[in-house]
Amino acid sequence: MSEAALLAIDQGTSSSRAMAFSMSGESLGIEQQSFAASYPAPGWVEHDPEVLWTTVLGTARRLLARLRSTGHRVIALGLTNQRETSIVWDRRSGAPIYPAIVWQDRRTAQRCRELALAGHGPLVSERTGLRLDPYFSATKFAWILDQVPGARQAAQNGELACGTVDSFLLWRLTNGRAHLSDVTNASRTALYDIRQGRWDATLCDVFDVPARCLPEVADSAAEFGTTDASLFGEPLPIRGVAGDQQAALMGQGCIHPGDAKCTYGTGAFLMVNTGARLVPSTSQLISTVAWRLGGCMTYAIEGSVLAAGSIVSWLRDALGLIARSEEIEALAGSVADSGGVYLVPAFTGLGAPYWDPDARAAILGLTASSGRAELARAALESVAYQTCDLLAAMARDGVSPAVLKIDGGMSRNSLFSKILSDVVRLPIWHARLDEATAFGAAALAGIGAGVYRDAEELAGRWQSERRYEPRLDDAWRADALEGWRMAVNRVRTS
Ligand code: ADP
Repeated sequence: MSEAALLAIDQGTSSSRAMAFSMSGESLGIEQQSFAASYPAPGWVEHDPEVLWTTVLGTARRLLARLRSTGHRVIALGLTNQRETSIVWDRRSGAPIYPAIVWQDRRTAQRCRELALAGHGPLVSERTGLRLDPYFSATKFAWILDQVPGARQAAQNGELACGTVDSFLLWRLTNGRAHLSDVTNASRTALYDIRQGRWDATLCDVFDVPARCLPEVADSAAEFGTTDASLFGEPLPIRGVAGDQQAALMGQGCIHPGDAKCTYGTGAFLMVNTGARLVPSTSQLISTVAWRLGGCMTYAIEGSVLAAGSIVSWLRDALGLIARSEEIEALAGSVADSGGVYLVPAFTGLGAPYWDPDARAAILGLTASSGRAELARAALESVAYQTCDLLAAMARDGVSPAVLKIDGGMSRNSLFSKILSDVVRLPIWHARLDEATAFGAAALAGIGAGVYRDAEELAGRWQSERRYEPRLDDAWRADALEGWRMAVNRVRTS
């Protein structure tokens, strides 16, 4: 008798992963393949869509071979992906007409400024919950259509398809039978009205992206077709799709209003479920779709910081302070505090809630007794302070979670988790299963395939491995935050 399994494909910014889970949510294995981005001009970031595809195919095939050898049978596939990254391809050949423009790419900053000057900002935020910013897909699609010779005409003729990474992969997985996306990915394009749940004709006009190029949008657990029989030796039903942060929210079991998770990878992404209520942010955060299940929309509020784990990588690679990322824990733990040292990690500007792209990083408060350990500790603290800034902004919007669930590479650091708990003054729960994003995608596939009754059943299975309670007193916290506020003010340009 073969045992049933769910397969998750996680197409990320620096690697593609395939992971499998048993029906009870145990991990059955992982395959991962990294790839490089290209940076053809300052502020430009591109991926080769063929590399995204071949790494997805390769990792999924390797994992499937292992699963078969252990007597497992995949009953459904879930897909999660780096969000906003934009691809335009030819409907006949399936070939991209330009590299994927990655979410980090700033080439359309000038175009966004023009649209803001023309007064389109309020319309964008009212209908999409987003900001008028190059981050989101709309100006990326338009850039490709404008810059690739003949693309505008081909788009008007219906010969081209535009899509986020999920949509491109679904096209390839189904051999061109499906031009679909799920609602979470659609909600990151700045073309999708998240109140009405449909592409918005006015926004398509404003951004100059023909609606006929866009995919059909489905629930996050739905029928996304079956993989072409030639790919994996047997057709696999694709039953769940969500952007990576939304998948992590599901994977962390944050299914009720007020449930919060923060994923600490290269950057940090805080997301809080707001249920059926779309909470417009007046404090520079983003309102977005958590998922849509059975036609019912669940919303979330989101804030992201640009530098989290990347600060640790910087201490490792640029300063040589540590040899491996994990070593930061022992080094930072060798002192009781940072001795008044603050690191403001604005290497590429400050994200939410400051949105200051021109700010640059600084180390402040150095004395003759400050050393490597104080700097390491200040680095961990800076990620906690940035999280605190996001939570304070959310509180101004009326959203105050009681617990913060964490995942991602940096969340394995227990000293960081303790500092985080003290700084944000919330219990911090670290999931037993580290791969919340992949598990969320598998969970959606399980719901789509009818294996799980609903998200409630899944949340009941969520288990924490470690919990941290705030220990330090309010006076300590007020002091620390005041120092952080002064440090941030020193680097801000606006
Ligand atoms: P991504 O998915 O963004 O590539 P990951 O979730 O794999 O990121 O996390 C990798 C990041 O976490 C790296 O920037 C790395 O420096 C950092 N990191 C990994 N382990 C630790 C640790 N024990 N302490 C602090 N940072 C860590």
